[in-house]
Amino acid sequence: MELEEHYREHGLLLGGRWQAGTAENGQPSINPATQQRLGYLPLATQAQVSEAIDSATHATVAMRKLTPWERSALLRRAATLIRERTPQLARFVALETGKPIAQASGEANASAESIDWFADEARRVFGMSYESRVKGGRYLVHYEPLGVVAAFTPWNFPLLLLARKIGPALAAGNTIVIRPSNEAAGATMALVRCFVDAGFPDGAVNLVIGKADTITPTIMADPRVAKISFTGSVPVGRQIVEMSAKTLKKVTMELGGHAPVIVHRDADIGAFAHLASLGKFRNAGQVCASPTRFYIHESIFDETVKALVERSKALRVGDPLQQNTDLGPLTTARRRDAIERLVDEAVSEGASVLCGGRRPSQFDRGWFYEPTLVANPASHIGLMNDEPFGPVGTLTPFTTMDEVITEANRLPFALAAYVFTRSLRNTLETTERLQAGVVGVNTFVASTAETPFGGSKDSGFGREGGPNAIRDYMDTKFINLELANDEPLDATA
Ligand code: NAD
Repeated sequence: MELEEHYREHGLLLGGRWQAGTAENGQPSINPATQQRLGYLPLATQAQVSEAIDSATHATVAMRKLTPWERSALLRRAATLIRERTPQLARFVALETGKPIAQASGEANASAESIDWFADEARRVFGMSYESRVKGGRYLVHYEPLGVVAAFTPWNFPLLLLARKIGPALAAGNTIVIRPSNEAAGATMALVRCFVDAGFPDGAVNLVIGKADTITPTIMADPRVAKISFTGSVPVGRQIVEMSAKTLKKVTMELGGHAPVIVHRDADIGAFAHLASLGKFRNAGQVCASPTRFYIHESIFDETVKALVERSKALRVGDPLQQNTDLGPLTTARRRDAIERLVDEAVSEGASVLCGGRRPSQFDRGWFYEPTLVANPASHIGLMNDEPFGPVGTLTPFTTMDEVITEANRLPFALAAYVFTRSLRNTLETTERLQAGVVGVNTFVASTAETPFGGSKDSGFGREGGPNAIRDYMDTKFINLELANDEPLDATA
């Protein structure tokens, strides 16, 4: 009921006005834990998407009038509102996506941290001035906003991944059009509302919700949109990059991963098992940096696997609204079906399921799947090649460093990788040889507000967060300044 009302009061945001959907023209939003309808989402028409871009274009004038300190203060206010509204934001994320509420609260807090970080970055865009080759002249380098940018955000971290796009976009002085995943549209509306209430000019932030094949081509074909940032799957990322060619937009792509974890013979097994059970099954494994392929040195394989399986079996699968739930349902039925297919194939190809491997018997509704660990999978099967994006990890013993590095780097992904060891030699060699944008050593924390996050190969390009992210939302201008001939060089002349 609460989300139904929220959808009715919000909906699309075009030029500062909310336009809600109705049961007649909208599409239902479904709770993945109960399969009950949460309400109706609006479906933006092509004309409404163009209206969003019109509004964003008009609002560039108002945004350009704000000083960096004013933009910073507005962002800071938005971060404060996110913190104040965390209970509501977290509840909407839990209801729409099935993320356990404690994790959803953590996500809201991380989003506020990200916005705070970019509030500071707004004040730290330093240009350059240096001597020119011509006497009396100057070379000036300025950084300017791009104008209108667009963000395509997924359902797995609807708050944080939007924060990482809207933060630098507004900090740099741009306006933005946002297309969230329908699975988390209500949470996105609530986050966007924080920026409206913080006092950004009308039209600085616009939200369009609905069918991707109406919205995305319209945004991609519009030359007024200077940059897009997409987080999602590799196939959709490829389509968007192809579309970007027509209007030559700047593009940031944060796509999937299939993170390897190398557990060396000198690792702290207890600490690894504890962190891995939490890291693997956070958000039911629907995390692009989720650890998936565990390569464990053969000399500690049995002991390590036993410890990890014990920890994983103790995780609580259940109602996302309960504070002590570790795993909720998967966000979509198609994700659960995909996981089932991958695990079934692994078993038919000789792998053994050490825990999970099925839907939990206690629920007769909802897209739940047990935390699952699969040992000794053949390397050609789907699970070892396609991003599972769900609560399943694989366990494989290794013997030598060369062998494990080759196996870890075998896939076309290069987003996150993890290493567990007490040895400095192992740390240096593994972290330097692994192909990944992020490497965690004795930790599964892959991103913070102040550090760059992103990948290469099929995992995409560009970095979000950290000290250089704001520059991706700015153009560089070189001003070659020479004095006019009749201007005296000497002030006393
Ligand atoms: P999907 O390929 O249908 O969609 C992936 C994401 O892209 C969703 O958020 C969706 O809303 C969005 N999307 C789809 N078509 C789009 C379009 N034409 N324009 C703009 N956005 C579009 O897959 P799915 O089943 O929803 O998600 C599962 C897969 O997506 C996973 O295998 C994973 O690789 C990937 N994914 C990655 C991330 C990430 O953080 N990198 C986040 C969510 C999903």
